[in-house]
This record gives sequence, structure tokens and C-alpha cells, in this order.
Amino acid sequence: MGRVIGIDLGTTNSCIAIVEDGQPIVIPNSGGYKTMPSMFGISQDGKRLVGHLAKRQAITNAQNTVYAAKRLIGRRFDSTEVQRSIELCPYEIVQGPHEDARIELAEKTFTCPELAGITLREMKRIAEEYLGEPVHEAVITCPAYFNDAQRQGTKDAGKIAGLEVLRIINEPTAAALAYGMARPGDQRIAVYDLGGGTFDVSILEISEGVIEVLATAGNTFLGGEDFDRRIVAHIVKGFEEAEGIDLRSDTMALQRLKDAAEKAKCDLSMREETEINLPFIASDPEGPRHLNFELDRVMLERLVDDIVQGTLKSVEQCVQDAGLRPSDVDQVVMVGGQSRMPLVQSAVSDYFGKRPHKGVNPDEVVALGAAVQGAALVEEGQDVLLLDVTPLSLGISTYGGHFARLIDRNTTVPVTKAHIFTTTRDDQSAVKIRVFQGESDLATENDLLGEFVLAGIRPARKGEPEVEVSFDIDSNGIVSVSARDLATGQEQSITVSSTSTLSDSEIDQMAADQQNYEVAFKG
Ligand code: AMP
Repeated sequence: MGRVIGIDLGTTNSCIAIVEDGQPIVIPNSGGYKTMPSMFGISQDGKRLVGHLAKRQAITNAQNTVYAAKRLIGRRFDSTEVQRSIELCPYEIVQGPHEDARIELAEKTFTCPELAGITLREMKRIAEEYLGEPVHEAVITCPAYFNDAQRQGTKDAGKIAGLEVLRIINEPTAAALAYGMARPGDQRIAVYDLGGGTFDVSILEISEGVIEVLATAGNTFLGGEDFDRRIVAHIVKGFEEAEGIDLRSDTMALQRLKDAAEKAKCDLSMREETEINLPFIASDPEGPRHLNFELDRVMLERLVDDIVQGTLKSVEQCVQDAGLRPSDVDQVVMVGGQSRMPLVQSAVSDYFGKRPHKGVNPDEVVALGAAVQGAALVEEGQDVLLLDVTPLSLGISTYGGHFARLIDRNTTVPVTKAHIFTTTRDDQSAVKIRVFQGESDLATENDLLGEFVLAGIRPARKGEPEVEVSFDIDSNGIVSVSARDLATGQEQSITVSSTSTLSDSEIDQMAADQQNYEVAFKG
């Protein structure tokens, strides 16, 4: 049997791990790097570049280099998040045939699962190089707050990369697994995960090999990237006031500034002040202009304070949903690169009234947990029971556009809930059911997962037919629906056709396409 790798597919960086001699370890690439930028680009001469190589060309070839594509996965093109990304990203985001968001690079259009698949295929290759054997199976992590379409997109990405995805697990749950494995004993922990593009918080109970998620909350469109943008906006404004030049429409200048802003932000996690120097950032008839900007920690904290406070609202909701008080939490584990920021650390410490645990590496712990789960799924004697929850309520739209909840958020998965539907008119032969995920009482304010028609209902008076529809959320958090006519016992075959999901043939085509670019493993 092959080995199962654990992959943390991050918005900014990705990381792979494996269990060796009972211990999870991170697999470095041949250059010794333990994480890889989740970036893909096409060079000026048409070469495909992944990871560090793609990052290297991000400044000079910004429109052909994709970063943070995970923010778009499983989202509809007309969603606010995609429209915001269109304004902010140097690469082109276009509408796909499933109303999904796609990215155009060097005149070729890529789906978001395909781009994530390219990162995953590279991770698979790094693992094979390290292990000296082929790898087929993986556990992949995703933000706890991902909805069905985003999870489905992540699973599709795995298939496109040529991997069998044994399980999709939530990032904070994976972190808790790695943490809990190294520190046996009953405890309640909060995992605060602030990465490059997403934010999650989960409260978990760990007890003798059982890890139970009590509640989770978050925001799949909030992370370190937003901190960088605040800094960029601040500097662009300052430069315009001082020099009278607007940098907003200069893609290359903005990309240089984005990079410098991120470095300055990380610098300010260790120092009180820093400088941003970008020579030849612009020019006008009077000659070239250079950008020299001083930024201190106090100013940075002022720029992003509302974002950090916003994360605490989710933390509060999560603690309440878990039925606890902040002081009931024994340990706070900080995950994700952005959680290194002192303001974030102090805000979380103040909320829980205790200092966060220092013993985990926020960049690696999620991949380590995914590897632990992978080993537990295939190896005997590696028992870990993971009881996770669904982050969002699942329901259908009813008369007047109301959202009728069938499964509440924070219900332990897997879960199945059945519901009886009937007709509203005599001899009605079909009913249409629209499935949503979210917390608003108005159906259309939630995410539409898909819709289906129950056809072939026998002729009868209104209200007589009884069709039982079962809504199922599996341990990956993925939704499926089945229906049965109670009078005849006949099963109805129904498919929830999510707008942004790829068909099997599209996935196969993308997988074949990627194989053309693959460096074969010889073992
Ligand atoms: P991740 O998605 O977990 O890889 O986190 C990436 C995000 O963490 C990026 O926005 C980074 O800029 C940010 N980050 C990494 N290191 C630091 C640091 N020392 N201080 C502040 N932010 C950081």
C-alpha cells in the first residue's frame, strides 16, 4: 500500500507532510523549503511556472501570474468576493460557462480547481521525489468555513492533480489533531487560524484519541492579503499627496508595492518601525521618482485594527455556539502566518484571558495534522476519531423566499436529515427544490448550492403525495440529496447541480491536460 500524504492547500503557501515512524514530519522540496507559494504563472516565453518560480516573475509579469486563487474557488462570478477580486488582482478574472470565476493567463482560460490542481500536482511530485515512490492518496485541508461548492472545488482539484482524496478535513481541526497527538490528555482548545486569505476559528474537545469539534466560525474572504492591501492603499495615498502621481493604474508598480508592503508587515511583527524603499517606482516629465516610506507598528495597527476586531466577533460567536465562556478554554493555538502579528496575538490573548500556546509552527501544523489523519485512515493502530461539524446551516427556500433550515450549523458530520415534501396543486407532477447554505432567514442571501426537480409524482389531490427527501452531509462536508416516493417506495434520482461544479468529463480533461506538463517519477 502507498503512503498517504497530508496537504495544507493554503491561499498563500502550501505544505505537505507524512507520518514516518509514527511521527508526522513536513516534507521539504529539493531546495530545502518546507512551504511553497500557491502560485502559478506562464512566463514571457510560454513556460509554465509553479511555486517559487512563479513568485519570482510576479513583479515583471504580473498579469500572467496567479496568486490567492483559492479565494475564488467554488464562487459564482457575480458574487461580491469575485467582483472585489476583479478590482484588485492584476490577472484577468472571467466568467466561466457554469457562472464560475475563471482566470485567463497568456490567452488560456483556467478554472480555479485546475489552478489548485497544479499546486497539488507539484506537492505530489515533491513528496514522490522525497519518498522515492509514487504517491496516489492524500488528505487535503480546507478552511473550516468553506461551503459545499468550495469543498467540492477542492476535491476536484485533487482529482485533477491525479490524487485520490481520501478525506477533506478542516484546517483548524487538522491543527488540533497535530497539537493533540503531541500532547495527550483531556483538554478544550481554541484554534485561531488567520492565513493569507481565510480566517477560521474552532473550539474542540480532545479526549483519549477522540477529537470533537464543538463549534466553528469564520470568514473565507479575510486574511493577510487584506492587511497588505490596507498598507498599499495607505502608501499610494501618501505618494499621491507628496508627488502628485497616482500609482493605482500602474500594474507593475502596484505589484512591487504589494510585495514590499507584505515584507514591511512581517518586519513589523519583530520591529517597531521599518522602511519601504522602491527606487524608480514612477516617472514624469521631470524624471524618475523613488518611493521612500517609513511605517511603524503603531500606524500599521491603526490601519488594520478593524480587521482584527472583526475576527474577534467570529471568535465570540464560536465560543457562544460551543456553549462555553472564554475562560472554559484550556489552550489557544494560533495557526496561519498572519497570526504572528503582535496585535493579533494580544487581541486573542485578551479575549481568552490567557497567552496563546507557543509550541506549534503556524505554517506547518495544518499539514502535519492532515498527515496524521491520512495515516489513521489507512494504517491499523493509528486510531483517531475525528468528529467535525458543518460550518453553515443547510436548508431550502420555501414560500415567500424564506430559508427553512434542515440541518443547523455546527451539527456533527456525517449527518442525514429527511424531510417529507408534497404538492400544492391537484395532479401536480413535479416540485422544484432549491438548496441553500448560510445563516440568513432570506434564502437568496445564502449560497445557492443547486436546485433539482422531483418529477414523476403520481396524479393525486394536492397535499396527498409524500416524497421523502434526504439531505446528507458527509465527513468531507460535501452535500448530497436523494428522494423517495413513500407511496411507491420508488427512488428518485436527483442531482444537485451546483452552478460552479465541474462535470466529470471536464475534470478528466483537465487531469489529462496537466499530465502533459508533468515530469514523470521514475522509481
Ligand atoms: P498562510 O496562508 O498561513 O501561509 O499565511 C500567509 C500570510 O501570513 C501572508 O499574508 C503573510 O504575509 C502572513 N505572514 C507570514 N509571516 C508573518 C509575520 N511574521 N507577521 C505578519 N504576517 C505574516
